[in-house]
Amino acid sequence: MSGRLTLVGTPIGNLSDLSDRAKEALEACDFIAAEDTRVTLRLLNHFGIKKPLVSYFEHNKREKGEQLCRRMEQGEHGVLVSDAGMPAISDPGEDLVRLCRERGIPVGCVPGPSAVITALALSGMPAGRFTFEGFLSVSKRSRREHLESLVKEPRTMIFYEAPHKLHATLADLYATLGDRPVALARELTKIHEEVIVTTLSEAIARYEAEAPRGEFVVIVGGAPKEEDAPSTLEDAVALARTLMEDEGLSVSEAAKRAASQSGQKKSDIYRQLV
Ligand code: SAM
Repeated sequence: MSGRLTLVGTPIGNLSDLSDRAKEALEACDFIAAEDTRVTLRLLNHFGIKKPLVSYFEHNKREKGEQLCRRMEQGEHGVLVSDAGMPAISDPGEDLVRLCRERGIPVGCVPGPSAVITALALSGMPAGRFTFEGFLSVSKRSRREHLESLVKEPRTMIFYEAPHKLHATLADLYATLGDRPVALARELTKIHEEVIVTTLSEAIARYEAEAPRGEFVVIVGGAPKEEDAPSTLEDAVALARTLMEDEGLSVSEAAKRAASQSGQKKSDIYRQLV
């Protein structure tokens, strides 16, 4: 058979989730390109599979991508795996797939679990329409621009986050989007799997009291429908008053939240309140 690339989905926690087809693909290939070869070696050892591993990650993807394509053009069958879940979803795999497509190398897939889909299905949040936002940037500016672009997004939004950045991310989501329903899906398919369905403000309070542990997917409710959202300045001021009374927000916090939910200016609401 001529050279080709197969994307193989691997478990996001529970090794029993590796499918028979995935095992066959790993056994049948000439090499496995992996984000972190140590992580993939543990998986291969567990299933008694021996294959040459090639590291392919963010900082070597350009040069390695070329090398791997040359090997596949010469007839080798490559497999691409991620540390966990589906390759190309929030990992450098998408570049290798694009390169293969540009060079006419056939690409196939043995699909497997993915944290984004597992979390959404478990959350009970509206799943008919959703957007996957991946990781928020660490650069303050692009993070702010990204979040601001989501203020009016009506679909359920899904983010990936590392535990040590979770609290800051929840706080930024709250500051930009207001208090929305949120589901925090952690340690999916592992012993300590847990899905917490709450609001952004309560989630922030929770993780002030305890440090987040494990891997998280954050699922945030979309913007309220226009007809439910306050649209006039008067409505926005009334909402801010309710927020001050019900949630004990300061004038400034209430004005900010009411502004994000209504599209009215925070300064106009603030002026009416004082
Ligand atoms: N390619 C993977 C996929 O298909 O889901 C995602 C890779 S991304 C680099 C890693 C992120 O996925 C983590 O920071 C976390 O947000 C999420 N993740 C992966 N495994 C998870 C799990 N078992 N439980 C919750 N989140 C998980």
